[in-house]
Amino acid sequence: MKNTFLITMCDLSLEALKAYPPNETRILMIESQRKWQALPFHRKKMVLGISAMRHFALELQRAGYEVDYRHEPDFASGIEAHHHQYQPGQILAFQPREWGMLQILQRLSENLPLTQIPNPFYFLPREEFIRWADSQQNLRMENFYRWMRRRENILIQNGKPAGGQWNFDKQNRRPPPNRAYPDPPLVEPDAITRKVIQIVQAQEGFWGSADDFRLPVTRAEAWTWMEHFFRWRFADFGPYEDAMRRGDWLVTHSMLSAFLNLGLLHPREVVERAIQSAEEYAVPLNSLEGFVRQVLGWREYIHGMYWYKMPEYRTVNYFELERNLPDWYWQPDKCELACLRDSIEMVKQHGFAHHIHRLMVLSNFATLAGVNPLRLSEWFWAGFVDAYEWVELPNVLGMATYADGGLLASKPYISSGSYIHKMSDYCSDCRFDVHQKLGENACPFNYLYWYFLDRQREKLSQNPRMTVIYRLLERKSAEEKAAIRRESEHFLARLPQGNSDYHFQYDAG
Ligand code: SF4
Repeated sequence: MKNTFLITMCDLSLEALKAYPPNETRILMIESQRKWQALPFHRKKMVLGISAMRHFALELQRAGYEVDYRHEPDFASGIEAHHHQYQPGQILAFQPREWGMLQILQRLSENLPLTQIPNPFYFLPREEFIRWADSQQNLRMENFYRWMRRRENILIQNGKPAGGQWNFDKQNRRPPPNRAYPDPPLVEPDAITRKVIQIVQAQEGFWGSADDFRLPVTRAEAWTWMEHFFRWRFADFGPYEDAMRRGDWLVTHSMLSAFLNLGLLHPREVVERAIQSAEEYAVPLNSLEGFVRQVLGWREYIHGMYWYKMPEYRTVNYFELERNLPDWYWQPDKCELACLRDSIEMVKQHGFAHHIHRLMVLSNFATLAGVNPLRLSEWFWAGFVDAYEWVELPNVLGMATYADGGLLASKPYISSGSYIHKMSDYCSDCRFDVHQKLGENACPFNYLYWYFLDRQREKLSQNPRMTVIYRLLERKSAEEKAAIRRESEHFLARLPQGNSDYHFQYDAG
């Protein structure tokens, strides 16, 4: 009697199945309507996920597996129907990446022979992260990253960090580069992808368009995409990783997160290839270390923190912010702030914008405007091709909005317009003036920043990393503070309200 292996959209790796050969194992794959209806997802995200699954089903068949590929109202009914039809000895599944799927599997395992296999798609098994976290006084990423570098012996020489330092952040804060980079290797859709595009385009309730979908949907295509990044952008990744350029959705970034998070690439092979490529293409250490930090450090840390803090992580809201996400986040054309409009348009067009757009524009604005952080997290989850709950809760509620009260970040990532001006070319094409602090033409980030600090004094002024900034606030005259309050409230009163109608089904399967 064969066992069944349940393969979800994030498990698309033949290598991960090598202990479960075709003569012993049948594969179950399910497209769940309920899962996709949980949020107004971006159409490119839908096409990426569905087309990658369909391509992987063919790859499995070519490798000799029998595949039961089902279209079902939800995962639970798909698993039950499969069990009824095939009566497998066991149903195996990798530990799910998300809380909702874990609840479904645990519920089903009361009546079905369901077994979870340790998730092989990370460097670190989640149980080991939990052991690490339990042994720490301070759960900051930097401590975890150094521990991972030593544990995996990556960029370590004679027990010390390569180049004599753990990070090269000071070299990695340059404003936008003047040069252009070759386009990534976009993929002409084949018949499978064209069919998925047709289905997704015809559906109501999703966001953006997939008509021009050209992303990799197989491991081979994702590998080519990765190699292209190493060849053409990697050397500049470090110095320009925080830079933003109008209309440039990648700048020097790779977007490999989209393919890592589907299982098409494994983080270990990506890091190993990065180290080889750095030699081949004479990539400087500040770029190599910056890249390794993202994959070995940040991605593993975020995954671990999600499982360490679920399910309470869904409820954190340190600043008690309750505004709906303004409509601009779905319809950017009416937004007058050039940086915000372009960042949202980028997401609407590509399903992607890099980490500084996410942190210092999209999240910064939402926090300063008092948006509920969970609504913002849902938007990221819906709109980005690399986003899932395990990615977004710690990134948005922890890192970007400080909604967890400082578990992940030592201070909120908020800023006035000057940071955006320094790191982008947006301000020269904006109807607002980044140098004006108050008045009709003043950059809204400028007064909203001080207004936020003023309102959150009780929760932030004792933070040692905020002392200097609160001293500056105290030096402002009563008249200036009153003007900041007046202009901020006037601006916020005119913000488009946002749609409170959608309710994300968190444990939708
Ligand atoms: Fe953004 Fe302000 Fe610059 Fe306009 S002036 S692009 S709103 S930072």
